[in-house]
Amino acid sequence: MNKPTAQRSRIMSCIKSKNTKPEIIVRSYLHSMGLRFSLHRKDLPGKPDIVMPRYNTCVFVNGCFWHKHNCKKGRKVPKTNTQFWIDKFAANRKRDAKNRRDLRRLGWNVETIWECQIEKPGRLERLYDNIIPKKVYDRLKKAV
Ligand SMILES: [Zn+2]
Repeated sequence: MNKPTAQRSRIMSCIKSKNTKPEIIVRSYLHSMGLRFSLHRKDLPGKPDIVMPRYNTCVFVNGCFWHKHNCKKGRKVPKTNTQFWIDKFAANRKRDAKNRRDLRRLGWNVETIWECQIEKPGRLERLYDNIIPKKVYDRLKKAV
């Protein structure tokens, strides 16, 4: 692989914050299942990564480190400026919880999928089932 140029890596790091690899995996999967969605809706609390108004569902694809998942990667704290990071992560978690709460109050079904879970067998299928509950699915099939 070519060594990235400075400009390229700058571009890549910009892209990374919005289009993380786990997010792309989830999007591709849902898309392949025939779901259509919008991305990063700024008018909704927390700008959910994936929004499906038709199914009343928002999906957050969370990086374990930044959003502090209870897993190995999520429990890591940088060795320098430790207190700063602890506070920052606590604020992230608090904000995430508030966004989920606000979305639910607005009537959205909120799904969170963690970076470390994406590759686990059955996880994406379970997400799909949560987006389209069986009774809705049956009704859709009947309508065809
Ligand atoms: Zn994790």
